[in-house]
Amino acid sequence: ENWPEIHGEVTFEHVDFHYESGEKVLRDFSLEVPAGTSVALVGETGSGKSTIVNLVCRFYEPTKGRILIDGVDYRERSQLWLQSHLGYVLQSPHLFSGTVRDNIRYGRLDASDGEIERVAKLVNAHPFISRLEHGYDTEVGEGGSRLSTGEKQLISFARAILADPPIFVLDEATSSIDTETEMAIQHAIQEVLRGRTSFIVAHRLSTIQNADIILVIENGTIVEQGTHEAL
Ligand code: ATP
Ligand code: MG
Repeated sequence: ENWPEIHGEVTFEHVDFHYESGEKVLRDFSLEVPAGTSVALVGETGSGKSTIVNLVCRFYEPTKGRILIDGVDYRERSQLWLQSHLGYVLQSPHLFSGTVRDNIRYGRLDASDGEIERVAKLVNAHPFISRLEHGYDTEVGEGGSRLSTGEKQLISFARAILADPPIFVLDEATSSIDTETEMAIQHAIQEVLRGRTSFIVAHRLSTIQNADIILVIENGTIVEQGTHEAL
């Protein structure tokens, strides 16, 4: 398959969505995000924020309506096409068993140790990695079980920045994160937003400040839309 480059325009066109079991979570959801724009999603628990970003990642597909990337329904392309142009950091980030280094390099297997350390420093993951028993060669355990949620998110950030995708999705962790890790994550967000189309599910005010558009989600619909100053 021939893979056209992605600029990163993302459009939801009258999207309905329900999980296999449940009732409709999204109803006639439409949204146009120009390439390079950062969108923050806020709203109560269960309002549908994760569902929206999971659809962007194509972990699920719309039940009705379409999601377009650069004007093309993503279902007309392979899963791999999107996966190779999209980076994500999930609410419950998943790491692979292997070392910290393997996990950062995943998706850019040719990356040198120097590049890996550079992105880890960029997202402020380097300090905690250096404190691990074997540094970058520390085994993270099954699914990353030896690390905290915040630490796993930072490693996912480093991975995403190394891969340098035009589209980036962050579903911020709700679990308690210590102040130092939180500051590192804020720093990582600033780095990753630059020049990308980003969808950021935010639980902290500090995360929202730098977004171009803020969407307030309620019951699967956008009830308010604006900039940080306007809202
Ligand atoms: P939170 O702030 O707690 O992360 P959220 O805004 O991300 O909440 P979603 O996870 O998108 O909310 O959930 C929206 C609705 O979809 C909720 O009613 C939830 O129970 C339901 N839901 C979410 N995931 C699934 C699933 N895998 N199967 C069935 N229903 C689901
Ligand atoms: Mg969620």
